[in-house]
Amino acid sequence: MNDAIENLQDILVRQRNACLASPYPELKQRRRELKAVREALSRYQDQLATAMSGDFGRRSEFECKMLDVMFPALQIDHALGNLRRWMKPQKRRTDWLFRTNGAKVVYQPKGVVGVIAAWNFPIVEAVGPMIMALAAGNRVMIKMSEFSPRSTAVLREMLAEIFPEDQVAVFGGGVEVAQAFASLPFDHIVFTGSPAVGKEIMRAASANLTPVTLELGGKSPAIVAPSASIEHAARSIAHGKAFNAGQACVAPDYALVPRDRIDAFVAAAVSAFQQMYPNPVDDPNYTCIASDRHAKRVHELLDDAVAKGATVTSCGTGNGWRVVPMQIVTGVTPDMRIMQEELFNPILPVVACDSLDESIRYVTARPRPLALYYYGTQADEIKRLERDVHAGGMTVNDWAWHVFQGDLPFGGTGNSGIGSWRGPEGFKSLSHGKSVLTMKRWFPIGLFRPPYGTRVQRLISALCLGHPDPALNLPSSYELRRDDSTAQASSRESA
Ligand code: NAD
Repeated sequence: MNDAIENLQDILVRQRNACLASPYPELKQRRRELKAVREALSRYQDQLATAMSGDFGRRSEFECKMLDVMFPALQIDHALGNLRRWMKPQKRRTDWLFRTNGAKVVYQPKGVVGVIAAWNFPIVEAVGPMIMALAAGNRVMIKMSEFSPRSTAVLREMLAEIFPEDQVAVFGGGVEVAQAFASLPFDHIVFTGSPAVGKEIMRAASANLTPVTLELGGKSPAIVAPSASIEHAARSIAHGKAFNAGQACVAPDYALVPRDRIDAFVAAAVSAFQQMYPNPVDDPNYTCIASDRHAKRVHELLDDAVAKGATVTSCGTGNGWRVVPMQIVTGVTPDMRIMQEELFNPILPVVACDSLDESIRYVTARPRPLALYYYGTQADEIKRLERDVHAGGMTVNDWAWHVFQGDLPFGGTGNSGIGSWRGPEGFKSLSHGKSVLTMKRWFPIGLFRPPYGTRVQRLISALCLGHPDPALNLPSSYELRRDDSTAQASSRESA
């Protein structure tokens, strides 16, 4: 244990020294590294899928490849297509008082980025932030979940073929190692996991003033509006709950359905699940609950709901333990654990909500979710949800697909997270945007120096602040500039 922690510290020192020796990897080098990761993902796809399936007990090979391998590959394609633009210093305007000087923002690598991954999509949660960190010119240390030992071993082997440890290093180990990892003085930490542990990470990072990106979870609602096609909504939500057996941060956690359509919704969801997984116990494409600990919780949650008066409709036959088909729960009340905790499994509570107002009240009375789903056709309702309801992201008429768009940031808000490592926002968050002002030699900066009280200084002061005696009615610089721009605008209009 002490050896493991010493090893973490040792690698951090080596990565820091390497940053000092090569502080700004050029575009060509970054592109070469990203291409090497993409090529390795393709070569290792079967080994990675087998390892992930082993960690879960059984996990769909297609889902392993689609999400954990293909998604990072597409992320690399997106980064390769945009990196030159992202890296380019951004020209900015100087304030009018400093006009003629040069202002820009230079995106500088932060240094060493620590990545802590959860177990549910072990590769994408490790490799995704790593790709963006490398694109931004950083070095990366990755701490994998204690529930992903096989995935950790294959990922370590794959990345060691490309990177020396002073550039990218992968660590396994238990929670003690994770705690020591989070307390290292990284230049940025990207954490994926629960809100409870997210608070621990932020506490540990605060001791070093390390900035954090927290990709957390929460209860993501699926609002089925009166205008929705029940068949379509049920099919989509069933897919969201069955994909990775509901063990996805953006899985629809519960559905809000008009009271008089609940029976039709339940019937359609059962049918949709059975079409996808007629025999979940023997279906290699139906993923297991990842561990005995997580399976015990699923059964306890269902027992608690039934004890408090809920009705459970099972969408198929499970094996009584880690193979759990979708479980639709109706007659739910707020005191049930399924309505208080993030589910992260194939349980689907259905809450009766007859109008969008009622659904919005229900959602906004609870912690801000990671995702929000709307099924329906009303443009005014969509606009209200976009503007009035806080959620990390939103897909209209399906679940989760907003997460797969390379140009969109993905992240939570409030209880569901802070920041994002994806899209252009991700590049910026893993870079330091350094303000650079270059003063021109001829600029009369001496006018700002003492001795104070010269005529020019008094004039500048009067222009900026106006005269203390309003009776003099001198225009301020803002008014002068506003008049100027209004005049320009009206002359443009008349032209
Ligand atoms: P978790 O919070 O229990 O663990 C996450 C990681 O933190 C693991 O690697 C674990 O070893 C480590 N860890 C645990 N305790 C720690 C501590 N005290 N200090 C430092 N590290 C510690 O979460 P989990 O069970 O692995 O994953 C499930 C949660 O993750 C759910 O809430 C889910 O919504 C969320 N999640 C979010 C996203 C996202 O992108 N927003 C993606 C996947 C999962």
